[in-house]
Amino acid sequence: MAEILLKNACVIDPISGINGELMDIAISGSRIVEDASLQAEVIDCQGFLTLPGGIDSHTHTSGTKVNFGRYMSPEDMRAGRTSKKGHMHITSGYSVPTTYGNSYRYSALGYTTLVEGAMAPLEARHTHEEFKFTPLQDSFANTLFDGNWGMLRALEDGDIKRAAAIVAWTLTAVKGFAIKLTNPGGTEAWGFGKNVSCINQRIPTFDLTPAEIIKGAIRANEMLHLPHSVHLHCNNLGTPGNFTCTIGTFGHVPDLNDKRQSLYATHVQFHSYGGSGWGDFCSKSEPVANMVNFRPQIVIDMGQVMFGRTTTMTADGPMEFNLYRLHHDKWSNHDVELETGSGIIPVNYRKKNLVNSIMWAIGLELALLVKNPWQCMLTTDSPNGAPFVKYPEIIALLMSKRYRDLEFATVHQDTEKRVPLPAIDRELDWHDIAVMTRAGQARALGITDLGKGYLSPGAEADIAIYPLRIDEIDPSADYEKVIQGFSQTEYTIKRGRVVSRRGDAIIDGENTTFWVKPKVPAAYDMQHDTAFQELFERYYSIRMSNYPVQEEYLHRNHCIETETDL
Ligand SMILES: [Zn+2]
Repeated sequence: MAEILLKNACVIDPISGINGELMDIAISGSRIVEDASLQAEVIDCQGFLTLPGGIDSHTHTSGTKVNFGRYMSPEDMRAGRTSKKGHMHITSGYSVPTTYGNSYRYSALGYTTLVEGAMAPLEARHTHEEFKFTPLQDSFANTLFDGNWGMLRALEDGDIKRAAAIVAWTLTAVKGFAIKLTNPGGTEAWGFGKNVSCINQRIPTFDLTPAEIIKGAIRANEMLHLPHSVHLHCNNLGTPGNFTCTIGTFGHVPDLNDKRQSLYATHVQFHSYGGSGWGDFCSKSEPVANMVNFRPQIVIDMGQVMFGRTTTMTADGPMEFNLYRLHHDKWSNHDVELETGSGIIPVNYRKKNLVNSIMWAIGLELALLVKNPWQCMLTTDSPNGAPFVKYPEIIALLMSKRYRDLEFATVHQDTEKRVPLPAIDRELDWHDIAVMTRAGQARALGITDLGKGYLSPGAEADIAIYPLRIDEIDPSADYEKVIQGFSQTEYTIKRGRVVSRRGDAIIDGENTTFWVKPKVPAAYDMQHDTAFQELFERYYSIRMSNYPVQEEYLHRNHCIETETDL
């Protein structure tokens, strides 16, 4: 087996309790080992910052929504063209790049694992096809259940075990990883041109409230012992005053798992808004962050907005319709039968725009006000808040008050009266950043058992080496060096092979798709359940037998089997 010895690495590995130690790391085959033999290839890390490979716990790189974003924005495709170079295919696109564009750019930033934030089960094949051509990162798919009629009927009947069985069947069928709820109840109502405005409102089509759907899904999730918790996009995204809905939702979350959170709330920036309309729109990051600080069963990600052009895409169809009514630009709406919905809109976040400036501040505030970095992951909900290539700038903003103040001086002048950001002095350190970009993700996703997110022997050899000497750089003052250092690794190592070198992919990748198969007893196997079969026959446009994605269809894959309480 090929061996590599990384010498003089300055390692920050929060899960193993290593914080800035100068050490060697031995790799044999795909794993980190105690020692390498004399035959090992030696790489001198020159004291550079060495972290576990980056993990993006919520991004949109693959599937029908992303692809629709590509072809509705030819101007975006023209913005990011690169030509063929060595092992690298041509790429194009800025906010919604081609699959190879996503893969190479993430790899240059040191990322080795990606979670697609929202896979519509009925369109799973498309997602898996694009995973195959995102070769430098392992893939996981959050699977949309917000409008799943089978699950909603079971919850309506108060039958959590049946809801869990339907989740188990569906995840196994579509090779998904976790339960994703997007605007639960609202996305389902959108199929009938409606939405919901509060977590305790009855939804139009089932005798359920969003709160009941969320609580039921959390219990079903824990019954199946899924690695990850329920992954929630709260109701009322992007609406002034929505912070009360977000806090109300967090208040309903039980603490059911001692290894990880019971709820992962995504892109919370879009859910921390005050005001009664756009006129008095303001930040409510403080009460939201306080709620997270008091509830260890919740992990959030930022959903940071950065200025410039991007593309919004979400399963939250009604929200995108509201956004369309504000912008009157291009809009795509797609309703996925009995399961979920979606919408896509290109946007341009501008510093001259007061609302956009407040949104920018809120994401940073959440990361700075949540005390425990293990509870707040660094994301842009790429590309919704900004394309992921902005991550180095966000890291620098979190590490430097001076940089934040300089940027703040350039945004809309009324922002100051509406946000607490200028009064926050906290500066995150290198360890915090390592938690918020890899270790925290691994723990929140429940994938440390797969060897993800740490660097001690036994771990997968997914490693990012950045040209940063942390003993020589003061991130508070040298924010430009921080941006530069995190923009391009010296080496990105994926499963024991150097895949990127100074921004260029140097070999063809070999990724793996991870999916979950809960082991359910025969009585709960939906494959043979007549009522479930009938649901398909009556309402789906596709036969139940044609629905599952065959394992052979996946490129390389790893099935995570779980014991269940059914
Ligand atoms: Zn998302």
